[in-house]
Amino acid sequence: MSNAVTEGRSLGQFIEQEGILDVLAARIAELNAQASKEAKAVGKQQRLPAVQCFKCTAKKTCCMSVVVARLYEGIVVAGFLRRANRDTSELRAALAAAATAMEAASPYEWRVPCVFLDAAERCTVYTARPTPCGSLYVYSPPEWCSDPSATIQAYVPHAESAAATELEELFREKLALRRKVGRRYIGVLPRMVLIALETWDRSDFREALRHYDWPTDEAAARWNRRKLPAAT
Ligand code: SF4
Ligand code: SF4
Repeated sequence: MSNAVTEGRSLGQFIEQEGILDVLAARIAELNAQASKEAKAVGKQQRLPAVQCFKCTAKKTCCMSVVVARLYEGIVVAGFLRRANRDTSELRAALAAAATAMEAASPYEWRVPCVFLDAAERCTVYTARPTPCGSLYVYSPPEWCSDPSATIQAYVPHAESAAATELEELFREKLALRRKVGRRYIGVLPRMVLIALETWDRSDFREALRHYDWPTDEAAARWNRRKLPAAT
């Protein structure tokens, strides 16, 4: 990613012209592919049943959970939606409603289909999905995913999560976003995508992004059953 002058360019223009969007998308795809490979390897090593997600035909409860994402992951999803001409007022309204409800909910009780899940229970942003989605693999029976009392055996993506968190700082530097002491550019997935779409065409995107109420690690932890590793 280059450190080029950004003046006058909108967020979308800047990250596309500087290749930042493609670099981020490629890195996310790489981490997701690594998680898929590692989940299989760890399962084999620990003599666990095969990873269930590859052939799962059960209800996709995993896509009815609170997802905490990084702003750059929201930007990659937003870029994918823009390129597919899917940035509509209806989508933004759905993202806003989902974000507000998700932020107020307990992650232990939230069971609402993701805005990006289609009627056939497929992810409609699959190739751009964030690392928390792309690194989720389970070894226990798929039906258990819908049973709150079941003990799910899941792959723990330590390396992928740590690498994704490292990208946060690189992204902040490349965009010359102000460092927010004790706070991170993260939030629930629909909020991150909505913020990205709302600032996409703004040349004052840094100023606009500054005014969002970015959470501390502790504040963000309330949304997440699976914690994001702390930023370094
Ligand atoms: S996490 Fe559970 S519900 Fe989701 S794809 Fe994997 S097995 Fe199926
Ligand atoms: S972004 Fe895709 S994979 Fe992630 S929760 Fe939504 S539908 Fe599921």
